[in-house]
Amino acid sequence: MKVRKTVVGGHYYVRSTNKELVKKATLGGVVPELMKYLLAKGIVDAVITVKSGPTPLGGKPVFITKPKEVDEVAGSVSYAPINLAKLLRDYVRPGEKVAVTVKPCEERAVKYLVDTGKLRREDVFLIGLNCGGLFNPFLLTEALRKREVNVGEVKDIRFEKDHLEVALKDGSIFKVRYMKDAISKGYRPACLRCLNHVPTYSDVACGYWGLLPGYEGYTYTIPLTAWGAEILNRMIDDGVLEAVEVPPEGKSLRREVVSFINFVAEISREAQFKELDKSNIEEMLSRCIMCLECWHACPIRSEKEVLVWREETSPVIWQISTVTYMYDKCIECGSCEDVCPVNIPFALLVQRIKALRDRLGV
Ligand code: SF4
Ligand code: SF4
Ligand code: SF4
Repeated sequence: MKVRKTVVGGHYYVRSTNKELVKKATLGGVVPELMKYLLAKGIVDAVITVKSGPTPLGGKPVFITKPKEVDEVAGSVSYAPINLAKLLRDYVRPGEKVAVTVKPCEERAVKYLVDTGKLRREDVFLIGLNCGGLFNPFLLTEALRKREVNVGEVKDIRFEKDHLEVALKDGSIFKVRYMKDAISKGYRPACLRCLNHVPTYSDVACGYWGLLPGYEGYTYTIPLTAWGAEILNRMIDDGVLEAVEVPPEGKSLRREVVSFINFVAEISREAQFKELDKSNIEEMLSRCIMCLECWHACPIRSEKEVLVWREETSPVIWQISTVTYMYDKCIECGSCEDVCPVNIPFALLVQRIKALRDRLGV
């Protein structure tokens, strides 16, 4: 039955009433409709999101200021590891209102920025996206090459309950089980050990996990704040969106998908910790060339002290001081690991130390 009013924490299958958009967008078109509506009504000045291309493995951040420009990104699914929270921190000034699509790790970065006074929560409308993980473009290209697939042929990649579904442009689909040897299949190590795959801090959470047969053209949508529910309700009232309650089987399917991904993540996290424990940490840290790529990629690190320490000490001591400095701040996005030219797993080190300290209760 159609819903006229959504409430915070309610679960809804929602879709755009614009049939053309639903055809073009993935999953019911709720995300592009939200962007268009917020811009058209003057609720935000700009939208920040990622536009894919030429395949879902590529992507670039885009600033959109006109509702019609949203059509260009509708249906654009990107698995490129881009952290939009960093753009919010660096480019959005107090009083500028923006809507931004965020994965759970980006959402945590936004929370950190808000909690530390670098961003005002009321200036951002967060459209949270479920996230099964992203790919390291080099690793995935290699993994696809082994299957004699050119990365340019990939049309879409979906995370299903226990496998990845890779759709090619010629219409063929193949499945990759991600339990076994996932990193060699191109999965980012940070995503593989990620324990937070659904939004909790955004205004609205969107995704496709939990869509029952017959509801494929919908977005599984959860308003997480009163402001998020209010916007959805205005859009329903204005005839832009239509919503139905998610049946209990849909909710349990969503729970199953999330708990399976978390189960895989727990195992992978422990395995990555064990590998790290066996490695020669001093040798690893001494590889650091102090290029600061990790620092520039990080949505959290901006404090000048980190730079100052760099001038004063050796790579090993600098790394140790930075790891301890970050251990209660790191939001585990893995951006630092993506860019390190000498493969230092900085975020893994932070997480390992944090896990040990958590066990001590300090
Ligand atoms: S770290 Fe987690 S939330 Fe962030 S991209 Fe990877 S899986 Fe998604
Ligand atoms: S230290 Fe690395 S994983 Fe942690 S927030 Fe910064 S970039 Fe992300
Ligand atoms: S990116 Fe790697 S090499 Fe460069 S400063 Fe960071 S840890 Fe060192």
